[in-house]
Amino acid sequence: MTTPVPLLLLGAGRSRRRRRSRWCVWALVLLPVGVVVLAMLSFALALGGGLEQCAASPAAPGGRGPAGPSPSRSAVADIPASRLRLYRQAGRALNIDWTFLASIGAQECDHGSCAGDNGFGCAGPMQIAMRRRSSCSPGGGPTLWDLYKTDGNRDDRLDVNDPADAIFTAAKVLRREKNAPATGGIYAEYREAACRYYGACGDAVANYAEQVMRRAVQYGFRGEGSPDPTDGATARPASNVPPIPPTSGGNSGCGEQSGQPPAGGARKLGAARRVYQPRSLAPLPSSVVATGFGAMQCDARIVADVVFLMRRFGTRVTACQSIHSLSGEHPLGAAIDVVPGPSGGWQTVERLARAVGWKRACAASGMAPVCASPPFRFAGYSGYPGHGDPTSCIPCGGGPHLHLSWATSASQGQKENRPRTGHFAPSWIDVLRPSNQPKDLE
Ligand SMILES: [Zn+2]
Repeated sequence: MTTPVPLLLLGAGRSRRRRRSRWCVWALVLLPVGVVVLAMLSFALALGGGLEQCAASPAAPGGRGPAGPSPSRSAVADIPASRLRLYRQAGRALNIDWTFLASIGAQECDHGSCAGDNGFGCAGPMQIAMRRRSSCSPGGGPTLWDLYKTDGNRDDRLDVNDPADAIFTAAKVLRREKNAPATGGIYAEYREAACRYYGACGDAVANYAEQVMRRAVQYGFRGEGSPDPTDGATARPASNVPPIPPTSGGNSGCGEQSGQPPAGGARKLGAARRVYQPRSLAPLPSSVVATGFGAMQCDARIVADVVFLMRRFGTRVTACQSIHSLSGEHPLGAAIDVVPGPSGGWQTVERLARAVGWKRACAASGMAPVCASPPFRFAGYSGYPGHGDPTSCIPCGGGPHLHLSWATSASQGQKENRPRTGHFAPSWIDVLRPSNQPKDLE
């Protein structure tokens, strides 16, 4: 149990508790926003097909995202080996860059224990809000610990002071509540997630987000937009770092809802990233359009993905931006319908479907994260009404096809979602590869 430290006595000394205190103040301001976000999250999960039970319960930390960067010499020097292993395991399980997670752990508690309430209602190595009606968690509603607590080491005990439980829980909070991107995500978005974790990007006490990001880069973070490391020599990968050991216990399946690509999903195709520009339509090259179909347009941000996928799998597009399936992504120009190319059969389409995370077992929903991996939100194929190969497509008014939707800021459960009777451009779309390279297109 640590002794609460009165704010004004902390003076100029570096104090992680002092830094956290700002978070607590901001929590008061941000609570109403959090309630809205939670409501939206529940709605999204409901749409996802009855996964709420996993979300509300202390879900097991299974699942496998990418391993992320190789630890740098700085990381190995700064982080105790057992703690480094936990950051990397949690990073892979929740599909968040472990260097970022570790840097938050350094910022909050210097990879230490920080056991007990800090006096403001936050506790443990990741300083997670766990006491209701406290500065960290005003009001009587559930705290972040209540909502996301995770048994990281599968010992059937949930303890905010246990580093494994705290780190897996923080990873989940960062991904689900603070909008941290998946492993491979860009620097600016991780920086924003650090701001949200603290409640501000920085203040008079700590330049929180800058410090977190600078240290993450030093640990090995190399997301797009990263500055050079402060010390290039020690930012190089360390030698003899063991591979990430599996987390103990089996995969409950609940881990998948955290958004990490399930094994065999789109992660094989590359990391998802969020792009904001350009918000306009662009033509698809005729080489990827199915024979007999005329010119078609997609949102410019997915054109590079479409070209890449069609060439890689030998498939063709029959529709992109289109005023049909009005609640989906076709009107936005962020969905395609796919059929075999001139020299391939339906197995080429199924290969594409499987590469983006589709599996027959979840085909009736087709929804991410179980049946579509980022950046895809939905894959409609054999087993989903009106979609699939010729033997599975029932009813089949639109003809056999695979439908693929990219995740956008106007997709179901997102705040720009609204009825569409015409085209409008969402603020962001998650994509495999940035699209502003027209020279690549033909
Ligand atoms: Zn479609």
